[in-house]
Amino acid sequence: MKTLPKRFNYAEAYLTFRCNLGCSYCINKFDGLKPRKEMTADEWADALNDIDFGNVSLTLGGGEPTQFKGFFELVDKLKMPIDLLTNLQFDVEEFIKNVNPDIIIAFHSDGAIQKIIPHLIEIGVDVLNPLQPECMDIFEIKRIYGDKLSFWGTIGTQTTMPFGTVDEVKEAVKKSIQEIGKDGGLLIAPTHLLEPEVPWENIMAFVEAVRDYGKY
Ligand code: SF4
Repeated sequence: MKTLPKRFNYAEAYLTFRCNLGCSYCINKFDGLKPRKEMTADEWADALNDIDFGNVSLTLGGGEPTQFKGFFELVDKLKMPIDLLTNLQFDVEEFIKNVNPDIIIAFHSDGAIQKIIPHLIEIGVDVLNPLQPECMDIFEIKRIYGDKLSFWGTIGTQTTMPFGTVDEVKEAVKKSIQEIGKDGGLLIAPTHLLEPEVPWENIMAFVEAVRDYGKY
């Protein structure tokens, strides 16, 4: 088995460059979308299952990855955690019918998405990423949906992480674990990538606070 080098924190398999949308800015169109030979689901599964991705989850992307002919078959065959980079223009009912029902589905969308949370629950989403304190009342969302969803995030990357003090970072982590992590269902994390302006002390404060308070 091959191992993903530790310096990599992202891995993506471009299953197909075809897409069911035609965005004018799509980089896949720059070569006129010449037909390309695509690998089969078995070929992808054999190649990808032979790699130890460590802590990195594999992203399935494209084009629109659900347009890949063996998409459902491949999802069921892959052994590592996967993300799906999708335009969401696919038949969710078909997806639910065809993939292993034990798969945990994490949905990513930045922004104020509280209005669509009931729909996400209805289509089978298990984990909401991120729970973003800059634009949603994260404690209220836990109160309303905490028995149906798990939450990923909660520590703001536009507020607390770059601009908070060390004590404010620790306090935010503590409050999040105690209130949103109550009875489980919290993957505590910054709500997005840490940008260069985040002070190193705040990163260390986050890690220390998770170690101090992150116990049930
Ligand atoms: S791959 Fe993305 S950018 Fe390109 S057409 Fe599809 S949705 Fe649009």
